[in-house]
Amino acid sequence: KLNPLSQNTKKSAELFERAKKVIPGGVTANIKYIAPHPIMMERGNGSKLFDVDGNEYIDYLLCYGALILGHGHPRVYEAAMNQMKDAGTTIFGTPHRLETVMAEKLISLFPGIDMVRYTNSGLEATLLAIRTAAAYTGKPKIAKFEGHYHGGYDQVLLSVNPDLDLAGVETEPNVVPESPGIPDYYRENTVILPFNDIEAAETILRDNAHEISAIIMEPVQGGFIPAEEAFMTRLREITEELGILLIFDEVKTGFRLTVGGAQNLYHIKPDLTALGKVLGGGFPVGAIGGKKEIMEISAPDGGRDILTAGAENGSKKDPLFHSGTYNGHPTVLASGLATIEVLEEQGTMDHLLANTNILRDGLEEVYKRHDIPMQTVGKGSIFNVILAEGSIKNYRDMGKADSDLRSKIDYELLKLGIYTKPLNRYSMSAVHSGEDIERTLTAHEKAIRIVQK
Ligand code: PMP
Repeated sequence: KLNPLSQNTKKSAELFERAKKVIPGGVTANIKYIAPHPIMMERGNGSKLFDVDGNEYIDYLLCYGALILGHGHPRVYEAAMNQMKDAGTTIFGTPHRLETVMAEKLISLFPGIDMVRYTNSGLEATLLAIRTAAAYTGKPKIAKFEGHYHGGYDQVLLSVNPDLDLAGVETEPNVVPESPGIPDYYRENTVILPFNDIEAAETILRDNAHEISAIIMEPVQGGFIPAEEAFMTRLREITEELGILLIFDEVKTGFRLTVGGAQNLYHIKPDLTALGKVLGGGFPVGAIGGKKEIMEISAPDGGRDILTAGAENGSKKDPLFHSGTYNGHPTVLASGLATIEVLEEQGTMDHLLANTNILRDGLEEVYKRHDIPMQTVGKGSIFNVILAEGSIKNYRDMGKADSDLRSKIDYELLKLGIYTKPLNRYSMSAVHSGEDIERTLTAHEKAIRIVQK
């Protein structure tokens, strides 16, 4: 069988064989599988990754976008180490100062955030946002957009990458579970909306408004297909009119479009925001933020007036349950704060965004020279390479792209030392250099020549 990877990844192949015996499929997240075997990494440095066979890669995966300052940024390292050293422990298990410092920082950056709670992953943040919305509005269902990812478990793992045979008509998509084992309850209590189609979305929302607590959405689908501005503005108006909360899942876009996320770019205040990835500076993290009156329903001391109308009779409304052994982990927050500090320094974001555009423009030129229809689609420091003409506005438009050709090119790129997981989007870091960009463009040029031979 032809090995699409080079002969230079033998140790990765061996390690994968060993892993497969003890880890199903040899991977701890299904998306981390690459046929015929994933490349096992051993070291990182700045924009580079080094595998167990000693190959060097320019990394555009960056831990699915989390490492906005690249691998091993000295300021982030120092912050984590100093935190542990000064505290004399990794974690207190009690409230502590950094939780407040980070909350104050997030409130200053994100227009939709008045208060904050921490979780340990982006998924936990989206689930907590959904529970908060359900508790606050008293309505049972949520609405999500087809093609939008909010994490890997039951309530949100619906219609992310649905088979079009099952997905129904575009203007009225079906709910399609993405895994066996998801209870029917979630399918029955989820409404799927078409992205960037406001008329169709509005019709569905009006028909179901009495049952929908919230819409959860990626303001930029998959981190690279932006919501159209008019779509976003109208969606905010409709949700306000219908008493539906708007949840921005900014796990990818937070800190990556502007430091204060997509909401700053769109000038939209969501009711709740989910964060993750960059927030932890490379450690596991998540957070939700939102309007005070909504967030306070989880306050155990009755931060809001938790005595309900029936209070005269002594009845009290329970606070929303939210817990987690590692929530607000001090080492994680110290790394996240150091990351945000660097991002806020003059020039960091400008440089990052300018470099992203240089790479995008350069790539478009390369493909043009080879007469391959290609466009980069993205926003901020994330983009994707789409081998198709015509506008890409939602999940179904992605079907226009030549993914076979893209995959072949991506495998060649791996051999040439460019790490993009085949078909994945590109994330840039603030430490990718002009030389990295040049090397990336040359590698694409070579990869195209090889696959076109
Ligand atoms: N929401 C979005 C938009 C994401 O991109 C991701 C992760 N790719 C998640 C939620 C889930 O985050 P985590 O993997 O930390 O659970």
